[in-house]
Amino acid sequence: MSGRTELLEQVAETLLAAESIAICAHVDPDGDAIGSTLGLAHLLRGCGVAVTPLLASGDRAPATYAFLPGADTLQAATTNVTCDLFVALDAPDPARLGDARDLALNARRLVVIDHHPDNKYYGILNLVDERAAATGELLWELLPYLGCAPESIAAMCLFTALMTDTGRFSYGNTTPAALRHAAEMIEAGANVVDLYRHVYENRSRGALALVARTIGRLTFANAGHVAYSWIDTNDFAETGALPEETENLIDEIRVVSGVDAVALLKVSHDSVRVSLRAKNGYDVGLVARTLGGGGHAAAAGFTRAGSLESVLGELLPLLPSVG
Ligand code: AMP
Ligand code: MN
Ligand code: MN
Repeated sequence: MSGRTELLEQVAETLLAAESIAICAHVDPDGDAIGSTLGLAHLLRGCGVAVTPLLASGDRAPATYAFLPGADTLQAATTNVTCDLFVALDAPDPARLGDARDLALNARRLVVIDHHPDNKYYGILNLVDERAAATGELLWELLPYLGCAPESIAAMCLFTALMTDTGRFSYGNTTPAALRHAAEMIEAGANVVDLYRHVYENRSRGALALVARTIGRLTFANAGHVAYSWIDTNDFAETGALPEETENLIDEIRVVSGVDAVALLKVSHDSVRVSLRAKNGYDVGLVARTLGGGGHAAAAGFTRAGSLESVLGELLPLLPSVG
């Protein structure tokens, strides 16, 4: 038996033996975080396990993902929750679990399921595979080990995870395996048109006004190798966009030709949250880690104290300028 099969079996056994499970993904949840949390919660409930799906930040799902089945069952991790097993999803280290960090570290058992290359293996079991395109893809692989047949609600949630983390099946993590798993999810009942419309064609007018500002401020640096833009708290007040509507905002500027890296800086009163995307193989994960954050080689981020100018002063020298 391969080590991977054994690990999948161990994870499934451990989950099924638990009395009560809390599931939580990273702060500022994206499609993989919400889709994976709801998909696993649904599967485990089907196996008769008591499950509490949690949010590491905030108290409700981002509006984009509120349509997913079970989204209304998500609870803030700040509520009084008890569990004998905690499952951390898509979170490479406990700090990314935000409000749920202490609950995770104090749980009797902690299982980590993730695909980040910088995962700290902080669980008693760690189903971590950086070749997986999304945490939701790993959960789809786990499904038969839980004794579950493929079915439509899990397929919907986990397809959303896979679709969003692969940039609608366009990034380098769109492997043959990812597409095979996506095909299985469609066979199991994930409706591609419906899910695509909910996630990508359901944006508020305010969110589009924010896109216009972001593109309007596009700036080139490092001899044209880098493009960046920024938004600040005034932009939310003036456009009516919500902070949670910025998940894909960086995609609006990554489309520009000729650059090796793109940055979007979200400025608040004393800190800046930075999203980085690489093109042409540059490793922005390394840059993000240098500045206190993390992520993948092609998509990474960090939060830094300071102003737009001071953070740009730290960031730009680490990004490509020649070649
Ligand atoms: P984002 O730009 O927020 O979409 O994040 C892109 C990737 O970077 C995701 O894989 C995140 O998990 C990771 N990431 C973003 N911000 C941070 C952070 N502050 N610390 C660690 N990883 C981060
Ligand atoms: Mn994520
Ligand atoms: Mn992910």
